[in-house]
Amino acid sequence: MPEAQTTTCAISGGGPAGIMLGLLLARAGVQVTVLEKHGDFLRDFRGDTVHPSTLQLMDELGLVEKLESIPHQNLTTVRISTRTRPLIDADFSRFPARLKYRHIAMIPQWDFLNLLAADARRYPTFRLLMRAETLGPIECDGAVRGLRYRHAGADHDLPAVLTVAADGRHSDLRRAARMAPAELGAPMDVLWLRISRRPDDRGGLAGYIGQGEMAAMIDRGDYWQLAFLIPKGSYEQLRAQGLDSFRRRLAGLLPFAADRVQEIDDWKKVAFLEVGLNRLKRWDRPGLLAIGDAAHTMSPIGGVGINLAVQDAVATANLLAEPLYRAQGDPARFDRTLNPELVRRVQRRRNIPTVGTQLVQRLIQRRIIDRVLDNAEPGLPPIVNNLGGRRLLSQAMALVMVYGIRPEHVHTPERTQAHR
Ligand SMILES: Cc1cc2nc3c(=O)[nH]c(=O)nc-3n(C[C@H](O)[C@H](O)[C@H](O)COP(=O)(O)OP(=O)(O)OC[C@H]3O[C@@H](n4cnc5c(N)ncnc54)[C@H](O)[C@@H]3O)c2cc1C
Repeated sequence: MPEAQTTTCAISGGGPAGIMLGLLLARAGVQVTVLEKHGDFLRDFRGDTVHPSTLQLMDELGLVEKLESIPHQNLTTVRISTRTRPLIDADFSRFPARLKYRHIAMIPQWDFLNLLAADARRYPTFRLLMRAETLGPIECDGAVRGLRYRHAGADHDLPAVLTVAADGRHSDLRRAARMAPAELGAPMDVLWLRISRRPDDRGGLAGYIGQGEMAAMIDRGDYWQLAFLIPKGSYEQLRAQGLDSFRRRLAGLLPFAADRVQEIDDWKKVAFLEVGLNRLKRWDRPGLLAIGDAAHTMSPIGGVGINLAVQDAVATANLLAEPLYRAQGDPARFDRTLNPELVRRVQRRRNIPTVGTQLVQRLIQRRIIDRVLDNAEPGLPPIVNNLGGRRLLSQAMALVMVYGIRPEHVHTPERTQAHR
C-alpha cells in the first residue's frame, strides 16, 4: 500500500479504540488513517469480553448479526466465592428488561477487530496501515500537527488536523508527547492460562478464593480461560518455585479441575499480565487526544478495558466527526489544529464513566483481592453482608461493570457511500 500523504485524523494504534474510531469517522466522511505496528490482530490473551454496551453499539452499526455469527459463548452469571460462602453472585438476565443485550459475548478480540476493520474498509475515506509504527508527533508552534511513523523500513510524516493516541497502555505517542498518567495502584498481577473444560463443569464466570490466592475462570466452551492472581511483583519468585509447585497450587484452589492442571507443562502456556490502573489527568494537548488504554489503563476486574475503549471511540466520533468533516473543506487545514476546546469535550464526557468504573475496581481490590492475597478474610461492607444486600450490591456492581456508566450511542451519520 502506498504511504499516506496527509489525512484529517491520524490514529496511532489499531486496537478496539483505534479501529472503532476509524470506522465511525470514515463512515461519517472524514479522511482517517489508522497506523498499527503489528501485521495482524492475532495476539492471544488480550481479552475477549464483548459487553452488552458494545453489543448495543454493534447493533446500532448494523453489525451485530455478523458479530454473533462468529463462534462464541454467552456469559450471563458471575459468582465469586470462598470455600465456605458466596461473596458476589450476579445474574445479568435479571438486568432491567429495557436493556436489549443482557449477556457478555466471549468473542476472540482478533475476530472482533477483523470484523470492524473489514466494515471500515468499505468506506473510501478509511486507511489502515499495518506494520506501521508511530515514532512521535509532528509538533509546530506548541501544537501537534500529525505524526511520524516507520513503515517498510523508512520514516514518514503524516500531517493531520487531529492526532489520536489509541496505542494502548504503553502508548509511544503519549510518551513522546510528554503526557504521563497518574498511577492509582493495583495489588496484583495476573497469570493467564487455559485448561480444558468438561461438559459437566458448571459454566459462566466464576471466581475461586483460597488461602492467600484467587482465580477467575471464564467458560470458553471446550476450555477454561483462567486468570490466576498473584501479589504484585511476585512472578519471578513463583517461577523460581517451579511448574510443579504452581500446578499444586492450582489443583488446591480448583479441586474439580485438579486432574487437568497437568496440561500446564511449560511456562510458555502461562502469559503474564502486569496489572495497571492509571489515568491521564488531561487526555488532550492542542492537536492531540488520547483515548482507550492510552488515556486510562483499567484493572482486569470486570473485563471492562475493551468496552471502555470502544465507548471512548464512540464519544470521540459523536463530538468531533462534524468539526473534522467541516475542516476538510478548508484548504489551509494542516496549518491549524482542531479547536482544543472541542477536543477537551471528549474527556469531559468520558471522565465520569472512567473514574466511576475505576472506583468500583478499587473497591473490589480493597475489599476482596488485597485481603485474599494478604491471607485475610475478604468481605463486603458490613451494611450489605446479609443475603438481600449482597445480591443487590452484586447486581449493582455487575450493571456498572458490564453495561457501563453513561453508555454511548452512535450519533454520527453514514455520509460516505460504502462499497458493498
Ligand atoms: C492479558 C490481558 C487480558 C485482558 N483481558 C481483558 C478482558 O478480558 N476484557 C477486557 O475488556 N479487556 C481485557 N484486557 C484489556 C484490553 O485488552 C484493553 O483494555 C483494550 O484492548 C484497550 O483497547 P485500546 O484500543 O485502547 O488499546 P490496545 O488494545 O492495547 O490497542 C493498542 C494497539 O496499538 C498498537 N500500538 C502500540 N504501539 C504502537 C505504535 N507505536 N505504533 C502503532 N501501533 C501501536 C498495538 O499493537 C495495539 O494493537 C486485557 C489485557 C491484557 C493485556
